[in-house]
Amino acid sequence: MEEFELIWRFFDRPAQGTATVLSVGDDCALLRPDAGYDVAVTVDTMVEGVHFFEGTNAERLGHKALAVNLSDLAAMGAIPRWVTLALTLPSVDESWLASFSKGFFELARWHRVDLIGGDTTRGPLSITVQAMGQVKRGKALRRSDAKVGDGIYLSGQLGLAGLGLKLLSNQTQVFDPEAIQKLEKPEPRVDLGMRLLNIANACIDVSDGLAADLNHILTASKVGATLEWRCLPLSNSVLAYIDESGDWSMPLVSGDDYELCFTVPAKHEAELEALGCIRIGSIEADPGLRLVKGSQLIELSPGGFNHFI
Ligand code: ADP
Ligand code: MG
Repeated sequence: MEEFELIWRFFDRPAQGTATVLSVGDDCALLRPDAGYDVAVTVDTMVEGVHFFEGTNAERLGHKALAVNLSDLAAMGAIPRWVTLALTLPSVDESWLASFSKGFFELARWHRVDLIGGDTTRGPLSITVQAMGQVKRGKALRRSDAKVGDGIYLSGQLGLAGLGLKLLSNQTQVFDPEAIQKLEKPEPRVDLGMRLLNIANACIDVSDGLAADLNHILTASKVGATLEWRCLPLSNSVLAYIDESGDWSMPLVSGDDYELCFTVPAKHEAELEALGCIRIGSIEADPGLRLVKGSQLIELSPGGFNHFI
């Protein structure tokens, strides 16, 4: 199969709205954001053997390659509109391409995102997706706007994807199919991100682990925070893993959860109960990230954890 037939068969789909003026097939795509909006752009690469195991289900890869980018748009409160796809393939495997394309377009249709172009090359399997969205001018959620007194919230469970990775690499006996699902098929919190536009001060998506990602908010906003261990949303399986391994830090340092972590001023906190989010701590003036766990106060610095009480 030659390159253009491959693109046409697996990646050329009709545009879903008027925001795409010209899609796959020319030298460039032409995009038309609505008047009064800024364009939000992000890109992420997934390399076989680095970001996913060899032999990972292609449909789930198609989903995840798009999902991790939509998660970045969600963290800014942007409405997803367009994506490009740069695929490097070791060979043309039609059944792999059909599955990949199915996973990719199922999620794309759900979020009404158009695949508007890309690149196809031969080499070790690597998938790069660039996502673009629009957000009301000047309204995007940033990492840098957290304020002292804000509550810190999470959109869902912590550490499930980390447990999924431990399972797939045979590092635990705790079995939970949801953990593998969460690792391989994350659901980006796009609707929540858009709803947070007039509620949250700062927002980030948890891709590298809560401690690391929340630290980005703290540094950018020049503030600190204290988290409450008893408030962290942990599944029974993650708790069982902690019992088994003795490693309570796993849900704080493992990545790939793709939940939103955001900060909210007191006047808006009541609105959050309806959104099913969990309050896990508060923003404080004192720099650094701390955790209250039973009678202990633990410093969660980016370089490691220190018990200082
Ligand atoms: P050019 O040589 O002008 O860069 P290509 O021959 O690489 O264009 O691609 C032809 C068309 O197909 C372009 O519109 C390009 O954006 C699109 N395209 C190439 N690969 C992909 C892909 N994997 N997914 C979607 N569109 C693609
Ligand atoms: Mg060209």
